[in-house]
Amino acid sequence: MKIICIGRNYAEHAKELNNAVPANPVIFMKPDTALLLKNRPFYLPEFSSDIHYETELVVKISRLGRHIEKRFAHRYYEEIALGIDFTARDIQSDLKAKGLPWELAKAFDQSAVLGEFTPLGKRNIQDLRFRLEKNGHIVQQGHTADMLFGVDDIIAYVSRYFTLKTGDLLFTGTPAGVGPIQIGDELCGYLDNNIMFSCRIK
Ligand code: MG
Repeated sequence: MKIICIGRNYAEHAKELNNAVPANPVIFMKPDTALLLKNRPFYLPEFSSDIHYETELVVKISRLGRHIEKRFAHRYYEEIALGIDFTARDIQSDLKAKGLPWELAKAFDQSAVLGEFTPLGKRNIQDLRFRLEKNGHIVQQGHTADMLFGVDDIIAYVSRYFTLKTGDLLFTGTPAGVGPIQIGDELCGYLDNNIMFSCRIK
């Protein structure tokens, strides 16, 4: 199982980190050891002093496929969840400045918070609203209509490079409002008004 993540997929978020809006999806991956499941707590790692939350819609791939055409991409997922792409922003800034890969900032243990999956059903995947609350206050609000690259575009794009397998996960990028965490914080993700995960910082 692999975790494919999209960077800079919401214009307002690209702007807040002073990144240009990309012409193609920005892709990186996390290993399966990054998963943090079942509302388990996140332990701040010693190697970073600036871990940021990035709340994202997560799509589970339901069929094997490669070179998937956009018009068929909707056949490759049935379930969605919310997650957090935890990012060591201090390390990422350093790696970006040096033009180096981001793995140390993005792929560390517990960096992929994942809530329970729910069937997409008849909902339009590009018309979903989600939010993150930190200690009861809303810090991020996303509408999937604002993605620069929609889910079907992403599937078509990444499957040109990587075979998608059943159970692979797609973290689809974060809206604006990313920020730091500290010990004692509680992060709760909501899709519409349904709580999808909670994560205590320790
Ligand atoms: Mg992200």
